[in-house]
Amino acid sequence: MPPKQQRPRIRTLNDPPSRGYSDRRPLRRSFSEASPLRQNEHSAPRHNATSDRKFYKEGSLTGHEARGHAQALKRDTLYYVPLGGLEEIGRNCSFFEYNDEIVIIDMGIQFPEEETPGVDWIIPNTSYLEKKKKNIRALLITHGHYDHFGAVPYVLERLGNPPIYGTRLIREILQKRLNEMPNVPKMRFVEIKNRDKVKLSEHFIAEFFGVSHTVPDTTGVALHTPAGIMVHFADFRLDYDQEDTVQNLQEFERLSGLGIHTLFLDSTNADFEGHSVSEKLVEANLEKTFSEAKGRIILSTFASMITRMAEIVKIAEKLDRKVIINGRSMKDNLEIAKSLGYIKYKPGTLISVEEINKYKDDKILILSTGAQGQENAGLMRIANREHKHIHVKQGDTMIFSSSVIPGNERGVQTLKDNFTRQGAIVITNNDLDIHSSGHAPGDDLAMVAKICKPKFIIPIHGFYFKRAANIQNMKQIGIGKERIILMDNGQVAELGKNNNVIVTDKTVDAFYVMVDGLGIGDVQEIVLRDRRMLSQDGIFVIIAVVDAQTGQVKGSPDIISRGFIYLKESHELLSHTRHLVKRVVEESTHNMHPINYTHVRDNVRERLGSFLFQKTKRRPMVLPVIIEV
Ligand SMILES: [Zn+2]
Repeated sequence: MPPKQQRPRIRTLNDPPSRGYSDRRPLRRSFSEASPLRQNEHSAPRHNATSDRKFYKEGSLTGHEARGHAQALKRDTLYYVPLGGLEEIGRNCSFFEYNDEIVIIDMGIQFPEEETPGVDWIIPNTSYLEKKKKNIRALLITHGHYDHFGAVPYVLERLGNPPIYGTRLIREILQKRLNEMPNVPKMRFVEIKNRDKVKLSEHFIAEFFGVSHTVPDTTGVALHTPAGIMVHFADFRLDYDQEDTVQNLQEFERLSGLGIHTLFLDSTNADFEGHSVSEKLVEANLEKTFSEAKGRIILSTFASMITRMAEIVKIAEKLDRKVIINGRSMKDNLEIAKSLGYIKYKPGTLISVEEINKYKDDKILILSTGAQGQENAGLMRIANREHKHIHVKQGDTMIFSSSVIPGNERGVQTLKDNFTRQGAIVITNNDLDIHSSGHAPGDDLAMVAKICKPKFIIPIHGFYFKRAANIQNMKQIGIGKERIILMDNGQVAELGKNNNVIVTDKTVDAFYVMVDGLGIGDVQEIVLRDRRMLSQDGIFVIIAVVDAQTGQVKGSPDIISRGFIYLKESHELLSHTRHLVKRVVEESTHNMHPINYTHVRDNVRERLGSFLFQKTKRRPMVLPVIIEV
């Protein structure tokens, strides 16, 4: 079934209220609908609730169509296309296009999901950009978080190695990643500072401005374009206690004075009310918790939260505790941050894990990664008593200074349980404000929009529900929903010179590109479907030897099965299966000269699939192997 054609939605400032957001084209399609492949494998109806919105291909612009699309683009018109980050957390990437010039903002990765078993990362789909790589004038990276820059090493060459613009910290973190990857071209990095104004191409000028986030050197960008000024806020929060936030607000006001066409607004926390928790409050609470701890402190946070790490090390020094870093990514980031002066500590503050027993318990602070309950991270090894040097004991205080990313709740629960079982006191964000999110909640977003006075807002970063929450947030400051544009990944918007935004009916490929081992993009939907099927009902292999002359099965067919049934206890089923296979093969080959083995295999697969389902109500992957003698 082809997707319903979406009519362009045109909005101008004088438009009557929009017709709401419920009329969007349905994006969710089931795997069986999208892929007619191998239907003959399973004749019985199959339960499959998984959606393949993210793997959706039909109707998007690939190959010839993409060229058609390129021709379809109007000259002297500004286009905006989000390639990721609008229907998930992560994979942030979008681009602006005007005539023969393209400017990309961010190139992030996304963590694998339940729907993508075995995959290492999900990265933005750059197929459209690759076809136009000679037009790419700049790749702007807003900050040093993986969900904004992590895909660069995988796509740099495919994009023709365009110049990358970013701050010094981004350069260092990115270079570290690139060093770990083989065969990546030397990057062409242009270092920028806040308040720099850089001409990227004939039609694009980028003006960078500082925003407050959980990593230093985060920059928003005001892109001066022929259609007006497009302001992209990156990830940000407001921290009213920090001096730089006051400067940030003044900067927003200055941009507002220039006249903002569209504001691209971080919506990660748009569905929360209120204002950001001040990092100073977090710091004070951490200090109080530290000074009350009698034994060792084990504190976990994200390795990317460099600002938080700097505070923690500072408090540790004040309270005369030595710091042990547990986790390679944290060690790397700490070194980079120290070399650039973002973290300062005295020699001797950091000690190696081997020295842990040289100091009294109340002189030790262990800073660890793995707060999301990741299987192989340092914290889980401590919790599972598998760590070589760190063993939890009575009187330890375990502090989680981070929020739980949705989907990781079970792993985090296991961590908390195991630490508590072994006698540690566990303190989380629920007990005390010991974590402040890096993303502004609803009331802060409204305040920023009020200062910036954009004509339009395109909410970015986060699921549809979160982005749509901005309709309520902005209502309080008099911005109606006709000025809030909710796009989906891959949609093409026209940003008009006459104060209008049109979400066109054109789309660009934005479905998942998966990184698995050394392969980039070679794991397709069909591979994932096989993986899911194998993980649900296992595999059933039947090997039959067939006489090419007579079409008869020689001997008894062999059976190999994994994850389906325990063979040793299923004699009756196996014996019936062997008889069935023999019968199906011989019926299929009857009077057939020469034997069409594909036809025989398909018959066996279909009949055996139905038979096993009828007997067990399970659907293993059935693989018939016919050997001709
Ligand atoms: Zn971030």
